[in-house]
Amino acid sequence: MREFDFAVIGSGIAGLSFALKAAKQGSVAVITKRRGSDTNTAWAQGGIACVTSDEDSFELHVRDTLEAGAGLCDEAVVRAIVTEGPECIRQLMELGLQFDEREVSGHRELDLGKEGGHSKRRVLHVRDVTGREIEDTLLRELGRQPGVELLENHMAVDLITAAKLGLAAQDRCLGVYVLDERTEEVETIRSDRIVLATGGCGKVYLYTTNPDIATGDGVAMAWRAGAEIANMEFIQFHPTCLFQPQAKSFLISEAVRGEGGILRNDRGEGFMKRYDRRGSLAPRDIVARAIDAEIKRSGAKCAFLDITHKAPEFIRERFPNIYQTCLRFGIDMSKQPIPVVPAAHYQCGGIKTAMNGATSLPGLYAIGEVACTGLHGANRLASNSLLEGLVVAHRAAVACAGARSGSKPKISLPEWKSGKVQDVDEMVVIYHNWDEIRRLMWDYVGIVRTDKRLQRASARLRNLQREIREFYWNFKISVDLLELRNLATVAALIVDSALSRKESRGLHYTLDYPETDNEHFQRETLFSRI
Ligand SMILES: Cc1cc2nc3c(=O)[nH]c(=O)nc-3n(C[C@H](O)[C@H](O)[C@H](O)COP(=O)(O)OP(=O)(O)OC[C@H]3O[C@@H](n4cnc5c(N)ncnc54)[C@H](O)[C@@H]3O)c2cc1C
Repeated sequence: MREFDFAVIGSGIAGLSFALKAAKQGSVAVITKRRGSDTNTAWAQGGIACVTSDEDSFELHVRDTLEAGAGLCDEAVVRAIVTEGPECIRQLMELGLQFDEREVSGHRELDLGKEGGHSKRRVLHVRDVTGREIEDTLLRELGRQPGVELLENHMAVDLITAAKLGLAAQDRCLGVYVLDERTEEVETIRSDRIVLATGGCGKVYLYTTNPDIATGDGVAMAWRAGAEIANMEFIQFHPTCLFQPQAKSFLISEAVRGEGGILRNDRGEGFMKRYDRRGSLAPRDIVARAIDAEIKRSGAKCAFLDITHKAPEFIRERFPNIYQTCLRFGIDMSKQPIPVVPAAHYQCGGIKTAMNGATSLPGLYAIGEVACTGLHGANRLASNSLLEGLVVAHRAAVACAGARSGSKPKISLPEWKSGKVQDVDEMVVIYHNWDEIRRLMWDYVGIVRTDKRLQRASARLRNLQREIREFYWNFKISVDLLELRNLATVAALIVDSALSRKESRGLHYTLDYPETDNEHFQRETLFSRI
């Protein structure tokens, strides 16, 4: 058994920002299931929303966030995150991150991008590779901290709680079992402060903008440990993922529409004005549903994003990554519209937390995309998630420092016991179940829902979960099996949450209840195993 003052699971913006601050208070383990940089964070293109210009105000950013959230944001949380943003950004810049600037009337100022739902230009960015630059900066800084151990290729399996150990004391989180993928051994890590920063669950859907790590592990682990889970029905579908069979999950940033890109259907019509007065820059849920409707109506395979009216030099300079990637697939975006489809992008719900990341289980914190603080409500405003990761990581570090366990007697934690030790005999079963879950979620629990489809998904998932449970106890655990188990849990939580919301709001749209029902449903959807 190894012991740390803080055990952080996940090495994206939230986990690394927390770890850097916690390192000033004690020893830190950063546990991450692939390489340190394999995160959603590294894929973020658009940037971070933050009020930095005189033409903008906290009030406007708060208003835009609340409007996107469709009546479910926690206004106090929105205000805190928006107003604390500039200080956290300043600290990030102190670590060496340089956001793009531009020349205005003889002086340099931050070059602010505009994205859907924002009433002002307020998105700080580094070309279209903001996330990668943030990730590199934070990892570099982490490497300079003597008290931090980065455990790569280590996958958190399950949380250890007092209740699971059958202790009479009030339930709390005591540690975590971690699979070392190289030795295939499960280690026991003990810490009074376990921080889940495991990101989202895009891989639960067949089409997603997320990288392979996004399998909902944190939500599933917290659920099994008895923590409260909120608002899982609100999955954001990004309207514009590159439609190209070989281009696995490549996102065309909303910033392309922010810079004037127009969505067209297969007949070349700019259709968005028919759906919303804001046209192509309407919030993501509206745009995703509009594309879905256009595609379904015409039978076309995709829609098109057209920015060919802008100068080629501008396009190449502002979107070097997108430009080059499209070009690799034979699409020159300065000359032809980009084929796009919607894809699962962001999990607005998650482990229910306070503003400082504290969950309903003492000793367990959740920060970043895995958490549901109340910032996003029923729909996330673009580029608010990196901001949330940064600010809540800071608050959690302050809260954890104040919650040191002092000289409480240490409970010894049992070692992991594997039921049976034989290897899975038929890997094909795991891959088949992975595929089945992702496909059924796409077909039955996607952008437009109905009770009948949700019920069908629910019944199939219960069967799959039974099968996976059997597998779990009869064979040696592996990363694929653990991820499959977590995907199934998260999929079931999404379906149960969606079934319990008998209205349409924000990202949850159902043909059976197309209206918003404030009287009965202006509240979070909460689930807990206990
Ligand atoms: C293509 C794309 C573009 C985006 N663009 C933007 C944008 O412009 N602006 C914006 O604000 N947001 C954007 N987002 C969303 C944003 O990137 C994420 O919400 C944010 O980066 C999440 O950060 P995080 O620290 O919570 O998690 P992540 O960065 O996803 O990190 C999760 C970490 O947890 C680890 N992990 C997961 N499970 C386990 C486990 N069981 N054991 C050990 N480790 C585990 C992963 O390996 C990873 O290290 C974008 C997302 C995508 C996919």
